[in-house]
Formats: sequence, structure tokens, C-alpha cells
Amino acid sequence: MDATTAAGQVPGPGDPGFPAHHAPRCAGLAELDARLTGCRACPRLVAWREEVAQVKRAAFQDQEYWGRPVPGFGPPDAAVAVVGLAPAAHGGNRTGRMFTGDAAGDFLFTALHTVGLASRPTSVHAGDGLSLRGVRLTSPVHCAPPANRPTPGERDTCRAWLAAELDLLSPGLRAVVALGGFGWQALLPVLADAGWQLPRPRPVFGHGAHVVLPATARRPELHLLGAYHPSQRNTFTGRLTMPMLAGVLREAATVAGLPAS
Ligand code: SF4
Repeated sequence: MDATTAAGQVPGPGDPGFPAHHAPRCAGLAELDARLTGCRACPRLVAWREEVAQVKRAAFQDQEYWGRPVPGFGPPDAAVAVVGLAPAAHGGNRTGRMFTGDAAGDFLFTALHTVGLASRPTSVHAGDGLSLRGVRLTSPVHCAPPANRPTPGERDTCRAWLAAELDLLSPGLRAVVALGGFGWQALLPVLADAGWQLPRPRPVFGHGAHVVLPATARRPELHLLGAYHPSQRNTFTGRLTMPMLAGVLREAATVAGLPAS
């Protein structure tokens, strides 16, 4: 991916090369999050996130939507990363925090709280005082996409943010949980780019999948785990139950050396 514009200039927020240029240059997660929230590299997603923030859902008419890229949430020294798909239009795109303000987020936070990794079982708004212990939530695409479906191009453009985030976390990162097949597929090339060795053939996504990526000269050993995404389609149908999700999170916490209940 080009890191500069055709004219050789440093890309601005609306240039496709903005993430690839700026993300690897961020010195820490605070800088990365600040840069990320100004990103406008995907015209379709910028238009959608801002339209949703203006039109709003009837139940949230009195609220001011975030309407921008949603950064990762959790401590900068997290030992476990949980990687979803993308913010929801009226969830993260409304509240400005990952998995906050919708049913999928409530399901995930209940599971995290059950295992002892979240201070509360619900995630209502960015100022609710909720905290995570040893876990950072993030996603391969940071803007809400129409119909929850980013294009491959949008996914690839946004990938630089996730790659840099995992790189900054990597000294203490011991496990990554991918929520759903999209997160899993988006994560594999990022891990490879970041220096971890992926087995061949590439590991296949499934709920309960658990692959150990061996340590390299640059990276410690990393556990990659899969879990079904806590979307309503999965939770309402019973495809994903609370014990199933809590079980994978508990396994990730255990291998990462976090105390889990
Ligand atoms: Fe930027 Fe990612 Fe949002 Fe695209 S999806 S505009 S790369 S933050």
C-alpha cells in the first residue's frame, strides 16, 4: 500500500494511504487512537457513518452520535486482544466506544465480566466508568459499514491501524481472540505482516479454534483463538451461548497469564 500520495506528499486524512503512512509511525496507543479518529480514507464508510449520525435511530434522536472511526478500548498493556468485525451503526458509531450501546456489546461484556475481565456486565456509554482488565477490544475495520459489510478494499485500507495496534501491544500480548470468520480472516495477514509465523495450510476459523503461533526473534509466542461473533443472529438462535463465549475468553485469559474466574 502506498504510504504517500501520487505527488509524493504526506497523505492527509482523506487519502487512501493515510492509515498505511501514519499508523506505523505512532509512538503509542494514545497517538494511534487520536490519529485513527480523524481518518477519512474510505469515502463510502465516511459517508455512511456521518449519514447515520445525522439521521439517527428513533430511540436515540436526543443523543449526539460519535459518527467517526471508533478506536480500540482497553489498557495499552493488554495481554489479550479481542478482535471483532466493525463498529455497529447505532452502537459504537453512536457511543464512540467498541461494543458499546448494542445487544452484541452487552453479550460480550457479560461474558467478559463473567470471566473477571470487565468491571461491569454492561457497556452503555463511553462515560459509564466501565473498565477492562488485561484485555483490549478492537476491530479490523474501525468505521461502521452499511449492512455490516465492509468491502475487501476498505478492510485492506483499514488494516494498517490494526497492524500498528497489535505491534504496539505485542511486547505483552499473549493471546488474540477473533470474533467471527471475518475477524479471523482479516487478522491472519496482519499477524503475518507483524512477524508471527502462521502454519500452512492457514488455520481455519471455528468456534473454539486454538492455534499457537511460535515465538520468533521479534515476537513472543501468541495464542490465536476463535469464537463465534456475539451478533444477535448468533445469540438469538443459540448458535453462540454465554457459556460458549465465556469459555473461549477464559481460555484466552488463562494462556495469557491473567487470573480468570
Ligand atoms: Fe479510516 Fe478505517 Fe474508517 Fe477506512 S474504515 S475511514 S481506514 S478508520
